[in-house]
Amino acid sequence: MHKATEFRLEAHPIIPEALERLDELANDLFYSWDHGVRSLLARIDLRLWLKVEHNPKLFLRRVAQDRLDEASEDRAFLAEYRRVLSSYDAYLEAGPGPEVTEKLDPEKTLVAYFCAEFGFHESFPIYSGGLGILAGDHCKAASDLALPFVAVGLLYQQGYFIQSIDALGQQIARYQSHSSDELPITPVEKDGEVLKVSVPFPGRDVVARVWEARVGHIRLYLLDSHTEENSAEDQELTLQLYGGDESTRISQEMLLGIGGTRVLEALDLKPTVWHINEGHAAFQILERCRHTMASGLNFEAALEAVAGATLFTTHTPVAAGHDIFPRDLVYHALGRYLEESGLDFETVFALGAKAGGDTFNMTSLGLRGSRFHNGVSRIHGGVASQMEGDIWPQVPAEENPLGYITNGVHVPTFLAPEWSSLFDIQAPTWKSEMRNQQFWEFIDQIPDYHYWSVHKALKQQMGEYIVRRLSRQHKRNGTGHSVTDRMTRQLISSEKDTLVIGFARRFATYKRATLIFSDLDRLERILTDPDRPVVLVFAGKAHPRDKPGQRLIKVIHDLSMHPSLMGHLILLEDYDQAMARRLLSGVDVWLNTPEYPKEASGTSGEKAALNGALNLSVLDGWWGEGYDGKNGWAIPPRDTELDAEFRNEEEARDLLDLLEFEVVPLYYERVSQGFSRGWVKRSKASMKTITPRFNSQRMVMDYVTNYYQPASSQGALLMADGGKVATGLADWKAKVREAWPGVELHVVGCVEARCPHNDTVELRVEALLNGLSADDVRVECLVSPECTGTHESPGPDSFFLEKESEADGRTVFASRVQPPYPGLQTLRLRMYPHHEALTHPLEMGAMLWV
Ligand SMILES: *Cc1c(COP(=O)(O)O)cnc(C)c1O
Repeated sequence: MHKATEFRLEAHPIIPEALERLDELANDLFYSWDHGVRSLLARIDLRLWLKVEHNPKLFLRRVAQDRLDEASEDRAFLAEYRRVLSSYDAYLEAGPGPEVTEKLDPEKTLVAYFCAEFGFHESFPIYSGGLGILAGDHCKAASDLALPFVAVGLLYQQGYFIQSIDALGQQIARYQSHSSDELPITPVEKDGEVLKVSVPFPGRDVVARVWEARVGHIRLYLLDSHTEENSAEDQELTLQLYGGDESTRISQEMLLGIGGTRVLEALDLKPTVWHINEGHAAFQILERCRHTMASGLNFEAALEAVAGATLFTTHTPVAAGHDIFPRDLVYHALGRYLEESGLDFETVFALGAKAGGDTFNMTSLGLRGSRFHNGVSRIHGGVASQMEGDIWPQVPAEENPLGYITNGVHVPTFLAPEWSSLFDIQAPTWKSEMRNQQFWEFIDQIPDYHYWSVHKALKQQMGEYIVRRLSRQHKRNGTGHSVTDRMTRQLISSEKDTLVIGFARRFATYKRATLIFSDLDRLERILTDPDRPVVLVFAGKAHPRDKPGQRLIKVIHDLSMHPSLMGHLILLEDYDQAMARRLLSGVDVWLNTPEYPKEASGTSGEKAALNGALNLSVLDGWWGEGYDGKNGWAIPPRDTELDAEFRNEEEARDLLDLLEFEVVPLYYERVSQGFSRGWVKRSKASMKTITPRFNSQRMVMDYVTNYYQPASSQGALLMADGGKVATGLADWKAKVREAWPGVELHVVGCVEARCPHNDTVELRVEALLNGLSADDVRVECLVSPECTGTHESPGPDSFFLEKESEADGRTVFASRVQPPYPGLQTLRLRMYPHHEALTHPLEMGAMLWV
């Protein structure tokens, strides 16, 4: 039989005048955190709202005219519509608070934030995981604080893949194209035409058109190569996030870094601080150098000026997270751009070279092209300082300029509305106390039964959601109803109120999703105790090229089908932000078992904690700071020097011990009301200690204080007087680099080995400065009490030595020092280059010790 061709026709409604601002709401990512907007739409047609997967623009295109007409005449609906709008208007009217304006003058400063992915909401799929969600949360908090802020990224027509898991447990990756009119974006126009920028590529220019996404107070600009000026191949450059090969990757990164900078220029925006969020966007440094050189500076001076206004954030110690390109590829891809820009290839290549290698590392470029740099938790900051230590070769890693700011999450996005309503009653001003730890003690005032009833309601919603998702998944795979029923029976048993543990994130091998299955017999015993059953819920995508990651999915799938674990292990497909909100607000325990120290921060555990779930995790990333002994459970990581298999076994045993002897018994320690008071106490301890410390408002304010404000001043200082300071600094650095290998430092005479505690000892060192002057260096003495033995940073225990005399090319530095500690102490003397325009005293990476 001949199958007729089908034509799809979408008849869209005309929005009634009474509801005309619905369009505006659908075009502002405000909806991604404001529950009011989303429930307003859901109220018009709940089935359609679910069908379009919470996509406001698609919803407004497909909703039936009579539904809209009815709503426009429904008084209750109109009242809600007005309430939502007035809260939207009030949000937009509120300006920045004094804590912001005293640091960043909105008239004179602007932060530009570049990232390869942004995760705002499931309806806008241009993210893959943690990095994107974090960037989305950063923008949302920047909007909440009304910072002078603009973000830049790429628009991927297909975004990241949609995941199915088939009946054999294999991951199937499917890409879906999204037309721009179903995304919360509008074309950017300039002088009545669609704004386009072009970037020189080998043998041609690649053109990108520009889209704008509104995020409350701020704007995100997205570049899109799908435009008629480009060849078919170039149109696909921005097709997929993390798709294609390394040539696609470097092309995307040229569009993001170089093209993105050109977008801001075309829009006449003049950022005073540039935040490069992960290496993908680091090519912006080159474009800004080119731009700065146009005002008469040489490359070195331009680089100083550019770097001084730049913050680079590195997000992972895992190798796959750092782009490393072969020399040939960089030469080919950037050649024409560099030539047209008057930039020398070797000079540029050296910025990305890792010591000794012949490859180009985007992280190294980011670090050399910025004077402010950070990791994303205390542990990660330390690890990154070690990893990237070659940028500052003579400086001890503990002291190099790479700092940290621990990631936080956007509370309005991830806190379930049920909790936020409860807080509204219990502590109405909570939204303006997001960083006040003391304020959050109010959590203890919530009656236990009330607290538990909110959690239980959310858990039930999660249960229903899981049943829906799993039924869909099973139906497609031809898996019988009875399997679905058996698999979810424990989960939805209201009589047992079963303990539910969640694990959902990207399936990357270092996250060790299967660690908990290390001792299956024991796990089975713990999970299937009829009086104290436990259900594990897993979800996550593995990158389509990550075969070991996909094997983990299969292992978990197979176990979930095994009769002995049936009902105690569930694997859901297609993890996204919508599923994350459900799971994170519904589970009792959130599990994370990364291989230390590879979880740079992790954020999902923070989202779980806001919602009252307890973390059970390896002490890595944020949990290394969050865990206080009473607000969850911790698995101490074993020494990384030990054999990996041994570490896995040891940490897995800790995990099962905690489950068997602490988590399960505490959860099932039920009193008359049917819940465990001990559990509620711990859950409250978690919520009140973690919420005010690990939210994105605290994170962004830390960025403002520690980096945005200083970078803004430093950039201005270096560019003052047409870049005079930058030029002076660059020339000085060249002089120091030249002289440094010939510089020497010696002690003169001998240092007293003993002195009365209230007396002083004389210290003298003699420096051979090889053409530098005494003002070009700083000499200091570090003193540490003998017993600590650790490598301390210069703090109050450090003395600067004063210059004494200068003769025949030798300079003597001397000082009298009173021992700061009683008893035995260690003195060490060192010298490093000094210039008043340096951003960080040790940024040159040069240092000599006696
Ligand atoms: C928060 C979040 C992540 C990050 O999870 P980690 O456990 O920190 O890796 C990934 N995906 C989604 C959808 C998230 O919401």
